[in-house]
Amino acid sequence: MSDIASLGELSGKRVLVRSDLNVPLDGPAEARVITDDGRIRASAPTIAALAGAGAKVLVTAHLGRPRGAHDPALSLAPVAARLGELIEAPVSFVPDTVGPQAQQAVAALGDGEVLVLENIRFNAAETSKDDAERGAFATELASLADAFVSDGFGVVHRKQASVYDVAQRLPHAMGALVATEIEVLRRLTETPERPYVVVLGGSKVSDKLGVIENLLAKADRLLIGGGMVFTFLRAQGHEVGTSLLEADQLDTCRDYLARAAETGVQILLPTDVVVDTAFPGGGRATSPSVVPADQIPADAMGLDIGPDSAKAFAEALADARTVFWNGPMGVFEVDEFAGGTRAVAHALTGIDGLSVVGGGDSAAAVRRLGFAEDAFGHISTGGGASLEYLEGKELPGIAVLES
Ligand code: ADP
Ligand code: MG
Repeated sequence: MSDIASLGELSGKRVLVRSDLNVPLDGPAEARVITDDGRIRASAPTIAALAGAGAKVLVTAHLGRPRGAHDPALSLAPVAARLGELIEAPVSFVPDTVGPQAQQAVAALGDGEVLVLENIRFNAAETSKDDAERGAFATELASLADAFVSDGFGVVHRKQASVYDVAQRLPHAMGALVATEIEVLRRLTETPERPYVVVLGGSKVSDKLGVIENLLAKADRLLIGGGMVFTFLRAQGHEVGTSLLEADQLDTCRDYLARAAETGVQILLPTDVVVDTAFPGGGRATSPSVVPADQIPADAMGLDIGPDSAKAFAEALADARTVFWNGPMGVFEVDEFAGGTRAVAHALTGIDGLSVVGGGDSAAAVRRLGFAEDAFGHISTGGGASLEYLEGKELPGIAVLES
């Protein structure tokens, strides 16, 4: 796969980089504060390398879900400012994507300078399902540059104009971040050292059930926490109260449990759960308590795996040589429900082998809970993309670079 060296002499060339700068923000539209700059820091090396090589660097990225319309609260302006602090190159911002203002800003760009274009998803065409509409937009975007570098790992599973179509219209290469991510995913799928333990949690249940399908054939142990646990517990016939539940996935969960039993893959579900009377509003627990996983009261909501389960999960991770973890074990944003996530994160830091944390919230969780990033083998910037790769799906944004 071609890296940026394959683009030849970069000095004076306009290089469009698709990065994933989709960071969490807080505060009012006119004074947004970045609460976790992990993705900006992960994207900085490729941008800095291109600028260092004398390219005129145009950065395109999205922020949040503006649904094709301008939304001042989702402007990339604060992100551009943070990027400027992180790299030793001048970074400017233009509140336009492909229009005249953007064109003028590109024309004014000097060698080794960086320009961040406004949130690409302010244009509905970026995510359009209509190939022609998306293609026309990609043509406009491509006209700004001489080459394209794909470095937004968090979006490579999306067939979107700035990810996929633009690569068909410009000489292209893979950025260092995407290359690293793909290399780690290869190690997780091709010849993982054993025991290979997969930990799944989070709130996007049906998104993640798909990955179990593929990993059941590869992993030795599967530890399940977070919101998806309750669909499994329900599938086993237990009351789950008001916990997250995907009723249409009960058969799928039953099938996974049966198949795991047949093939000798160990599926570990929590034996105790931290519940509360409601989802924590305003970041605060109401009256949390620990109950056995098969005795969740009808009016209670499961918000974390319990302390016994956290201990069992940590033990099941202790001898692992390969770990992939995606999805917090509970609502880690609230201290009372962070115990499971903290225990799993801590167990990963002791792994003798490859430990991979995938998923935006999981990555944010380990930082928020105070773990050093270098205590993990790899912290992936893309949850959905990692999961689709692990499901065995082709990632359009990667496949297009091979052509
Ligand atoms: P990632 O971004 O790492 O892939 P997800 O987006 O799937 O993870 O899920 C992260 C969210 O899941 C967190 O905000 C967390 O509060 C939430 N979560 C975890 N456990 C539960 C639960 N039991 N009920 C509701 N939400 C949960
Ligand atoms: Mg998430």
